[in-house]
Amino acid sequence: MYVVMLGAPGSGKGTTAKILASKTNLPHISTGDMFREQIKNQTELGKLADSYISKGNLVPDEVTINIVKDRLSWEDTKNGVILDGFPRTVEQAEALDKILEEQGKKIDIVPELQITDEIIIERILNRVTCSNKECGEIYNTKFKPSKIEGVCDICGAKLVSRVDDNRETIKERLKTYYQNAAGIIEYYKQKGVLCPICPEDPTAEDASEQAVKAILEQRK
Ligand code: ADP
Ligand code: ZN
Repeated sequence: MYVVMLGAPGSGKGTTAKILASKTNLPHISTGDMFREQIKNQTELGKLADSYISKGNLVPDEVTINIVKDRLSWEDTKNGVILDGFPRTVEQAEALDKILEEQGKKIDIVPELQITDEIIIERILNRVTCSNKECGEIYNTKFKPSKIEGVCDICGAKLVSRVDDNRETIKERLKTYYQNAAGIIEYYKQKGVLCPICPEDPTAEDASEQAVKAILEQRK
């Protein structure tokens, strides 16, 4: 099963992709994670990617498409993959179809997590992160609180809010997402693989599990 996960920042897309990958035993391929890994290892690709990412820009299609193309040539992808953060442009979506077509494969389903802006804003506003850079565990004071308020369960360091997690910037980030996503959503709708997913209760602790269940039911 070849899956492309779509969803706004804060929609739970990454968490849902991870759970789906472990349930289906398929590799979770996140271009954001791949770039961060390259940056951490200070590779040439990492330096190039960082020059865009640190400015808040997208990494050029050519670079991004190439790393995905390489990843999709690995043996572990032959039964399917869960793509997360790719494609982000229509050009990437077209390139992905071409890569899969060469292998006799195609995208089977594109779940689009539909969470209202209000809930996303609420979630992000209540998000706190462990201040210990080595740990970085993410909590939510409402939906996933730490055992002791303001203290990391794992390492005991202080929990802090991100400076860009305020109502105004979140609205801006959501606007940018919808502007960019519109083309990709339309692209997959035309192909008949788009599948809107609304978790029954998006504020519940197991909202991502609910989304995974809905995705697996759609596949049948
Ligand atoms: P976020 O959820 O903050 O958008 P990601 O982890 O998905 O973060 O990606 C981090 C950064 O990596 C993005 O802001 C972008 O600069 C770059 N990136 C990730 N995926 C892509 C992609 N498919 N095309 C271009 N740039 C990408
Ligand atoms: Zn911690």
